[in-house]
Amino acid sequence: MARRTVPEWVGRRPESMPPARVRQRILERENGLCHICGGVIDKPGWHADHVPPLKDGGENRESMIKPAHDVCHRRLTAQQAIERAPIERKKLKHTGAARPKKSIRSPGFAKQTKQPKFQKRSLPPIPLFRQVSK
Ligand SMILES: [Zn+2]
Repeated sequence: MARRTVPEWVGRRPESMPPARVRQRILERENGLCHICGGVIDKPGWHADHVPPLKDGGENRESMIKPAHDVCHRRLTAQQAIERAPIERKKLKHTGAARPKKSIRSPGFAKQTKQPKFQKRSLPPIPLFRQVSK
């Protein structure tokens, strides 16, 4: 029996959620198995995982969504975020979007020039006033 072809669902926006009928088709296409661990998905609340991830250029369309256990999906997403973090940090620094962390610097103390307390070979004092003889 030939199945009627159904047009592929494509999300209008990257954050658009596939409707229930599309989620059902995705689950049936993957034979009800989690694409991460390969286990049977027997509980509601499974996640629609984008492969490749949307952040890595994946599209929000039916053919690029695979079912996954919520636990498996969360763990994989967390792992991907850890792997991406240093790259994102470098990107922010490189583009100048993020400034390097520095403490606020004060101008500091004025530099003192050390003056000797006394001069060793000083000349004898010059009298400022002369006594006038009468
Ligand atoms: Zn799983």
